[in-house]
Amino acid sequence: MAVPRHKHTRSKVGKSRMHKYIKSAHLNVCPKCKKPVLSHTVCLNCGFYKGNEVINVLADLTKKEKKVREKEIKQAEKETKKESPLTMEELSQK
Ligand SMILES: [Zn+2]
Repeated sequence: MAVPRHKHTRSKVGKSRMHKYIKSAHLNVCPKCKKPVLSHTVCLNCGFYKGNEVINVLADLTKKEKKVREKEIKQAEKETKKESPLTMEELSQK
């Protein structure tokens, strides 16, 4: 059986453990549905990545769940449209 050579004080143990703690993941916000998403990953709520639909999220849902999810996504889209600043084309028209 292995025997420790020296006694580790509580402060020594604590000092070494200080560097082993789990850091919180950096989350971005999905531009389509405004849910937190890991960077460089597909949003699992709406199935979009870089503006393209990658996963059809609504495929495996029941009719009732589909309705609710579609409503959520549409509402989030509406909010993003309101907040987004005018594009150059829109500015030139005005
Ligand atoms: Zn999303």
